[in-house]
Amino acid sequence: MPDPNGFLRYDRRLPARRPVPVRISDWREVYPPAGEELIREQATRCMDCGVPFCHDGCPLGNRIPDWNDLVRTGNWDAAVESLHATNNFPEFTGRLCPAPCEAACVLGLGGQQPVTIKQVEVEIADAAVAGGGLRPRPAPVPTGRSVAVVGSGPAGLAAAQQLARAGHTVTVYERDDALGGLLRYGIPDFKLEKQHVDRRLAQLAAEGVRFRTGVNVGVDVTADQLRAEHDAVLLACGALQGRDTPATPGRALRGVHQAMAHLVAANRVVAAAGAGRPALATLPDGTPIDAAGKHVVIIGGGDTAADCLGVAHRQGAAGVHQLDLYPEPPAERDAARDPWPTWPWVLRSYPAHEEGGERVFAVAVQEFVDDGTGQVRAVRIAEVTVEKIDGRRVVTVLPGSERELPADLVLLAIGFEGTEEQPLLAQLGVARNGRGAIDARPDWQTATDGVFVAGDMHRGASLIVWAIAEGRAAAAAIHGYLGGVGSLPAPVDPARQPLAAR
Ligand SMILES: Cc1cc2nc3c(=O)[nH]c(=O)nc-3n(C[C@H](O)[C@H](O)[C@H](O)COP(=O)(O)OP(=O)(O)OC[C@H]3O[C@@H](n4cnc5c(N)ncnc54)[C@H](O)[C@@H]3O)c2cc1C
Ligand code: SF4
Repeated sequence: MPDPNGFLRYDRRLPARRPVPVRISDWREVYPPAGEELIREQATRCMDCGVPFCHDGCPLGNRIPDWNDLVRTGNWDAAVESLHATNNFPEFTGRLCPAPCEAACVLGLGGQQPVTIKQVEVEIADAAVAGGGLRPRPAPVPTGRSVAVVGSGPAGLAAAQQLARAGHTVTVYERDDALGGLLRYGIPDFKLEKQHVDRRLAQLAAEGVRFRTGVNVGVDVTADQLRAEHDAVLLACGALQGRDTPATPGRALRGVHQAMAHLVAANRVVAAAGAGRPALATLPDGTPIDAAGKHVVIIGGGDTAADCLGVAHRQGAAGVHQLDLYPEPPAERDAARDPWPTWPWVLRSYPAHEEGGERVFAVAVQEFVDDGTGQVRAVRIAEVTVEKIDGRRVVTVLPGSERELPADLVLLAIGFEGTEEQPLLAQLGVARNGRGAIDARPDWQTATDGVFVAGDMHRGASLIVWAIAEGRAAAAAIHGYLGGVGSLPAPVDPARQPLAAR
């Protein structure tokens, strides 16, 4: 029986982050392990309310009150089992999820702080590793059916694990030189050290999943070859088409780049250092891209922008501005706009914001300014208001508000426009929709029979928790399509959206 008064006895507490001067001198994760006493105390704050809305907040349907109580009572092995029943990779979500479950925690109804669900989750995930490692669970009987998964991000990997455990022969194709999708070269190590990805990959390999890296499907292997070799295909290619601003004067100047160019280059340097190889941060054509000693301007207010900020400080930037088109959000939930248990529009500060830099809200870039040699020297910005008129976004510049910010390196982190246009799509007969995503029928098949889609490629740029949920659900659909015995869990259907009030 959970403790109904735990939240009255204990306040919400998170472990202390590593001190800023220490953590920006390396690439290790910001949070040290929390310690058992703190986690059991925080799990005690979960009152196991009759209708746990956190279940609806979490796209995976994680059984949060169950494992909170198992942690409270020190029953770690059972907590590990319970968590893995719904989530293939809790070490990723426990570190990286923005935790919509916490926004939906019933404690929030009475003005209390939510349970630290995500922190409990990561401690359970790490307890699994500490208590004997991630045990492989190979299928007892092979089905003789074969599935190709294109893309090795969290959606592709979750689907691969589910299908392999159901007895299917799964091959994951990845065009990069290493597996993991955005977990590998998009998200920096200070948020997710890559040992966590490697450990999971070892588990999948031990369960029989085959990996083929450096294979760009549609180029190195044609869709016809893929379909001839496999009984079903899952597309999990992500939504990696970065939004650009081609009409802004000066966009072609040297020093103005897509944020992902900066992040991938930096992550490759960290990966090389881990393997004992010195490396420089460069674009694929060899052009250096590094923030050391530079004035950096990051355009955008989301995860990608915050990751660029953390990277810039670790590389030794002289100064960083982060620009946002929208006004500064409120500190607290506006219940009239975003009632509990929906995801509120509030000011989100990541650990990277503690490390320095200045956030500038309600501004838009007017020009990237040339230093006379074709290199950017400044960004000219203006204050703006943003309105929605007839469903369209209208940005109005405040006359006389223009000013310049010094800039040697400008990073565009203004979102993604869906999955990339690539030969594979035409070869398979699937087309991008108006959002740049690939539509799925209710059974996760694309317009082409036997070709399924999941993750960001279907949903548009989203979250790891959604990618895992869609990967699991698509795996369940593929299992059915292949005539597999029984059914696999399907936490979401293709039309499922986050909790919303309207
Ligand atoms: C910088 C950044 C930070 C983020 N931080 C967070 C965070 O903190 N928390 C969070 O929840 N979410 C975060 N996200 C979002 C999250 O990473 C994605 O939602 C998630 O990775 C999507 O998973 P996916 O498997 O659908 O695709 P991806 O992870 O994008 O993987 C797709 C893979 O497909 C491969 N591929 C594409 N085409 C082919 C082909 N033809 N042949 C072979 N391989 C191919 C790509 O190389 C890639 O490896 C972040 C995103 C970015 C960009
Ligand atoms: S995956 Fe995300 S939403 Fe689900 S329980 Fe974990 S932190 Fe919450």
